[in-house]
Amino acid sequence: MAKSITCVVPVYNEQQVIAEFIPALDKTLKELAFPYEIIVIDDGSQDNTMAIIHELRHQYPIHYLRFSRNFGKENALSAGLAHAKGDAVILMDADFQHPLEILKDFVAKWQEGYDMVYGVRKGRKDEAWLKRVCANGFYRLTSQIIRINIPANAGDFRLLDRKVVNALQKLPERNRFMKGLYSWVGFKQIAIPFEVQPRAQGKTHWNYYSLLDLAITGLTSFSAFPLRMIALGGIVIAFLAFLYALWIVLSTFLFGIITPGWATIVTTIMFFGGIQLFAIGVVGEYIGRIFDEVKQRPHYIIDEQVSFDDSQR
Ligand code: UDP
Ligand code: MG
Repeated sequence: MAKSITCVVPVYNEQQVIAEFIPALDKTLKELAFPYEIIVIDDGSQDNTMAIIHELRHQYPIHYLRFSRNFGKENALSAGLAHAKGDAVILMDADFQHPLEILKDFVAKWQEGYDMVYGVRKGRKDEAWLKRVCANGFYRLTSQIIRINIPANAGDFRLLDRKVVNALQKLPERNRFMKGLYSWVGFKQIAIPFEVQPRAQGKTHWNYYSLLDLAITGLTSFSAFPLRMIALGGIVIAFLAFLYALWIVLSTFLFGIITPGWATIVTTIMFFGGIQLFAIGVVGEYIGRIFDEVKQRPHYIIDEQVSFDDSQR
């Protein structure tokens, strides 16, 4: 039987672009000459997105899922993977930032036998310099700390073979740092560079806080290194304190009792108070995530689900 392709598109408040994007995507997929389906996951949009997609469903092979609220892009992608039937799944943003022309290269590489083909952005010129610096810092830090290799500047724009999709679905964790998980599952992977397009309409859903949150998720879900650093820091500080204690005893014998300074004591107490709170905070990050996992809540809740099989097609 001919192989088929599923294209998964997460959308959140994309009323300005979705009506243009779906036809363009459909046209591109048609040109690939594989049977295909499009899965649109509406991540709890509050604007007109839902109505527009329902309209589009009459013309295009859209399988539509709507979450009961906004659960975040990573969960939307998980839902897409869970419902995809294709032998390959393409993950794609709805805002035209991922160029459609590259899909044929993705599929060509898949045909050559690669299990995962991912887009790597050539530059980050479209982004503010602070975001760029933070992103670079993050990739440098994680590549040092995490033992798996996360390719820099690769995101969710990818083609995954069925094998990879099945492997990803076996990972039950709720704190899903997808960039890491793609690398963690392994398989034969290849990068294809692409130029990120400016967002067609609307604006990005990320802000610095959510990026920081993502970075912390990335670090904590792939490494216990921060915990080890705390332990190490504790040992170093205790050792220094011991040396200082020796020095105090010695200097008392040599020079007699020196009147202690308030300033030194107060600064030291505050300094170590700060360090301790920080350390507890880091441990807390891990505990918070354990708490998330043990609750075993579903990753998302589906409010409405319409497949094109049960509609007009
Ligand atoms: N998105 C989503 N849920 C969210 C935020 C974003 O499904 O909570 C979708 C969004 O509609 C778009 C894609 O994820 O299709 C990428 O989002 P965005 O363009 O805001 O991110 P950026 O391209 O700036 O990384
Ligand atoms: Mg975007």
